[in-house]
Amino acid sequence: MRFVHVIRILLVEWKWYPVNSFRVLVFLFCVWSGMNPSYAADGPLVIAHRGASGYLPEHTLAAKAFAYAQGAGAIEQDVVLTKDQVPIILHDVTLESVTDVEEKFANRKRDDGHYYAFDFTLKEIRQLNVNERRDHKTGQAAYPKRFPIGKSRFAVPTLAEEIELIQGLNHSTGRNVLIYPELKKPAWHRAQGADLTARVLEVLSAYGYKKRESLIYVQCFESEELQRLRNEFHCQLKLIYLVSDKQWDSAVNRAGNSAEQEFQHIATYADGVGPSLSLILKGVAADGKPELTSFVAQAHAARLQVHPYTMRVDALPAGVDSFDQLMQIFVQDAKVDGMFTDFPDRSLEYIHSR
Ligand code: CA
Repeated sequence: MRFVHVIRILLVEWKWYPVNSFRVLVFLFCVWSGMNPSYAADGPLVIAHRGASGYLPEHTLAAKAFAYAQGAGAIEQDVVLTKDQVPIILHDVTLESVTDVEEKFANRKRDDGHYYAFDFTLKEIRQLNVNERRDHKTGQAAYPKRFPIGKSRFAVPTLAEEIELIQGLNHSTGRNVLIYPELKKPAWHRAQGADLTARVLEVLSAYGYKKRESLIYVQCFESEELQRLRNEFHCQLKLIYLVSDKQWDSAVNRAGNSAEQEFQHIATYADGVGPSLSLILKGVAADGKPELTSFVAQAHAARLQVHPYTMRVDALPAGVDSFDQLMQIFVQDAKVDGMFTDFPDRSLEYIHSR
């Protein structure tokens, strides 16, 4: 009854007008149910892309803890295997763009000039220092305004270590932040003689990620692998099929399928799609009006969630003038269900301001 009494005070005595009443109710529900209202599920899911990678080297535990503290709803892991088949967190199957592998293991590159994580044991990978992403040929930072290259000390985490960090923070804060692992190049791993998906599922299962309601989305660019998760592993977890412009072009335009047919097929095995920004935003007209495709509407018609990638303050799409404008286009106009962002704080700031 006290709950009702507080609403009456807010609505009547403090003269909160009906237009505000929904927000008041959401706020009170959050307080009442013990949730921190700043993390309330009142907007699209904010997925920290490789952590708060706009501020700290991608995929380090520091970047993940920072994303957690900023209030991200989900934190992303890209997963590849070591030589001893341990799932580790790394964006590429190669090491040279984000570590000092060339200095520490100069003679371990393949004939193509790359240093593959799969050629190193976990013990060896643990000797590497992680740096901000750079072009390994020129040494230039991919994003010059981000964390300085070669400063401080960061390591490549295992999937298990990162899950322990996020589950540990969920325990100490009382929040329920999701993990969001991506299976990186499963077909390539298979060609090396390893089953990435099986190794990842073993770790996920050991940490309790087994059910549909588990706090996780699993993502992959290879639709065959997502179908394998459903059909061969009978995986119940929520799945997101990642699509690039090129993939979509070949699936829809070149294969002669309609977009509707393609979305219906995806919906037979996945819960959502993760498209590039450009599959949703074609451009911005001179008057500032966004030109949107029908991608989101068609995905929603097939009951698929849409989590596009990637929101970056320092790499805005052509024609977009500010991060807030970018957020407005995707949140207000396109109505996406989630987003991958290098700047979880900035995405949340926009969402909370609405
Ligand atoms: Ca990824």
